[in-house]
Amino acid sequence: MPTHTRILLEKRMQIFLEHCKLKRQKSRMDVYMENLKLVSNKEIYDLDDKDVLRFLIYKDVNDSGRTVVHHYSCPNVGTDNVQQCLDHVKCGLRHQSESMRVGIVDKLRKAFEDVGRTGPFDSTTQLGDPTRASIVKEYMLYKRQEQGMSGVRSTKARHISKEKMDKFMVNLHGKILGLKKGVRRLRVKQRRAMYGYCFSVIKRLAGAGHVIAANTVRMPNNRGHVFNCTWDKTQIIDSHCFGFLCVKAKEPWCPHCVIDDWVNEAKTYGMDFSKGLLFPKINNDGTANMKTRWKSKDLTETLKRDLESFHLYEGETPHSFRHGGTVNSLKQGKSLEKTMYLAYMKNVKTAQSYSRGMRVLFPNFDWKDTGISVNPESIDELDLMCQMKSWKAFVSAGPTL
Ligand SMILES: [Zn+2]
Ligand SMILES: [Zn+2]
Repeated sequence: MPTHTRILLEKRMQIFLEHCKLKRQKSRMDVYMENLKLVSNKEIYDLDDKDVLRFLIYKDVNDSGRTVVHHYSCPNVGTDNVQQCLDHVKCGLRHQSESMRVGIVDKLRKAFEDVGRTGPFDSTTQLGDPTRASIVKEYMLYKRQEQGMSGVRSTKARHISKEKMDKFMVNLHGKILGLKKGVRRLRVKQRRAMYGYCFSVIKRLAGAGHVIAANTVRMPNNRGHVFNCTWDKTQIIDSHCFGFLCVKAKEPWCPHCVIDDWVNEAKTYGMDFSKGLLFPKINNDGTANMKTRWKSKDLTETLKRDLESFHLYEGETPHSFRHGGTVNSLKQGKSLEKTMYLAYMKNVKTAQSYSRGMRVLFPNFDWKDTGISVNPESIDELDLMCQMKSWKAFVSAGPTL
């Protein structure tokens, strides 16, 4: 092996191993297992079903839960605090049952699995996976019933309705108009663009953090944007092609125009959208920070604050955007295929996926003024692909192509 290849090999190996180490340090699986061992004062091979049960109950009484649960006989059932309750053993703040199952029990199960403790738990031999013991299952069932009788609703993120989104975006625009040019205004513009993008393409908010600017296409005559995404929280690498037409004249706000507004302002700070991300994190001097990308966690607080500032906050999280657009377009009686917001194209080369995607997305698109004067049925694939090379959304200075 040539020396320089060996050096590269070693260095890449090192980067990968550091990645593994970091991932482990941060994983909830390890955090909960460490916690369980600490609470039980035992090692992983000695832990049994009672230890797991004690740990779950400990999590339910140590003030780490955020769900108000009243005992079925408590007169305060249906209220969302326990301050007035007479019995603070029967009423209290607990972990929502489903989130405890997914967030704690499943994580511990993985940790046991990692050391070979799998399969049903046998209380006589103490072998197997203690999270699968009947007493643990029974506790989870007990919690579900208790929370059902207490009227606890599912913690699934609420959707943002089109009406609310309109109010939100219009208010944000007003806020921007009141701000002087500066990094603060730049950040608000970026958030507004991310919210608009996510609502319109029906993606999780954090997904916006992975959009590659150079992979975005501007539709001919500036009629909209088409995106090609390869990365999302699901971590499935695939090609999702979707986009939206400009709705400036028809709707209170247009995601395509809002994104352009953000990009144009960012360019005045020297940000370059011929490469890099469409929504990078921003340094204090207004330059792009490529070290990390936006995550749901980062966006939870800012979204809450933005909504609160217009008195619109009702418990929304970044996940609330996931189905906002779908719910909206279906409500208006459009079929999912016909709505202009979304289409998936799988496993096709970029240009081809764009061109096909565009025809699926916009079957009624008027190609007359685009220079490709053919009907959509017989578009010349090669011709279109050549054309599309000049359609990079953010490379030219002006908003139109
Ligand atoms: Zn109560
Ligand atoms: Zn527009």
